[in-house]
Amino acid sequence: MSEQKYGFTTTILHNDRRKAIEQGSLHKPVHTSVAFGYQDARQLASVFQGKEPGFRYGRQGNPTVSALEDKISKMEDGVGTICFATGMGAIGALFQGLLRAGDHIVSSSFLFGNTNSLWQTVSSQGVAVDFVDATDVANVAAALRPDTRMVFVETIANPRTQVADLARIGQLCRERGILYVVDNTMTTPYLFRPKAVGAGLVVNSLTKSIAGHGIALGGALTDTGLFDWSAYPHIAANFRKQPPAAQGLAQLRAKALRDFGAALGPEAAHHIAVGAETLALRMERTSANALALARMLEADERVAAVHYPGLASHPQNGIVTSLFRTGGSLMSFELVDSIDPFDYLNRLKLGIPASNLGDTRTLVIPVAHTIFFEMGAERRASMGIAESLIRVSVGIEDTEDLLADFRQALDA
Ligand SMILES: *Cc1c(COP(=O)(O)O)cnc(C)c1O
Repeated sequence: MSEQKYGFTTTILHNDRRKAIEQGSLHKPVHTSVAFGYQDARQLASVFQGKEPGFRYGRQGNPTVSALEDKISKMEDGVGTICFATGMGAIGALFQGLLRAGDHIVSSSFLFGNTNSLWQTVSSQGVAVDFVDATDVANVAAALRPDTRMVFVETIANPRTQVADLARIGQLCRERGILYVVDNTMTTPYLFRPKAVGAGLVVNSLTKSIAGHGIALGGALTDTGLFDWSAYPHIAANFRKQPPAAQGLAQLRAKALRDFGAALGPEAAHHIAVGAETLALRMERTSANALALARMLEADERVAAVHYPGLASHPQNGIVTSLFRTGGSLMSFELVDSIDPFDYLNRLKLGIPASNLGDTRTLVIPVAHTIFFEMGAERRASMGIAESLIRVSVGIEDTEDLLADFRQALDA
């Protein structure tokens, strides 16, 4: 196929065919081999020395995974992508590959629970972390120090749906030459490309909406090409030999993926690639369902609060309408005190109590008692998480069925 510019879905569907695939296979085959043999031992040596492309050992690269990395790069309009076994593997790689004791990072305080926990670990290992309310760039600016290496935010925070001041933080990082890392999991590259606001690295948990089916774990780091790695102090001499644009991912692939070993398996990569073909279709449907459900709940006096970025009442709805294609598929809400949230969840017939999101099925979870239980009430309160908060990852069910289910559980 030529390098013609196609739309989002066409690009994903046909990307594998840009390179020859065995027997005209329409899907990149699942290559399970861990080792890759060469006819000429000199060629093996030159692959190891990075003088020619090729695969060495399954932990550092695999043809099936590489085809997925190519697709994610296309989705994010990036220059390169590294896949990991999980989204947390990708976020952990930032620490392992790029940070040193004595560094400082600024992170949004509205975070996925395990990322919050990871930053606690990082703080105990010599990297200082400042948590700020990233819905206002002024808080990020006030936290910056001369040794700040990275600003980390999520697009739409899980579960309270705060939206970071994405464009202004990007501008600030550009002015200060600081690496801007955006976790795009909740928006996906279909709703929003963090490159548009100056992100240098983009995180995606592939487990969630990109795969969409909930049958495989995976994560990715994409380099958008915007960050100047020649100015980053911790690139080892070995990786300085690469062109500046390639230095960040070269070091991440060796120091984080290879040395820590959170490699994505080829079977999971295959499942994720198949799921990703319908990302745009699913996001349109789940977003429409989420907006309809959010509007219904907001209008009901038995519901005390609804947090959905696509609602006009959401504090950052202006950013959502200017930067994102839709408000996404994640919402959370609080019932009035007289309704027990557990009883409510037990009355749902379609919403399934489960801890995942971005699935084709609607999943519900009582946040404070499960995914955000470990961090304690004080930290939850600082994240705006009420003890009765219910998170909903809206699926692709028929809209009327979904609304009827959430309504009957209120009526009962
Ligand atoms: C789920 C999630 C992650 C972690 O991804 P896993 O694939 O579960 O490791 C990171 N960030 C956000 C915003 C998430 O929702």
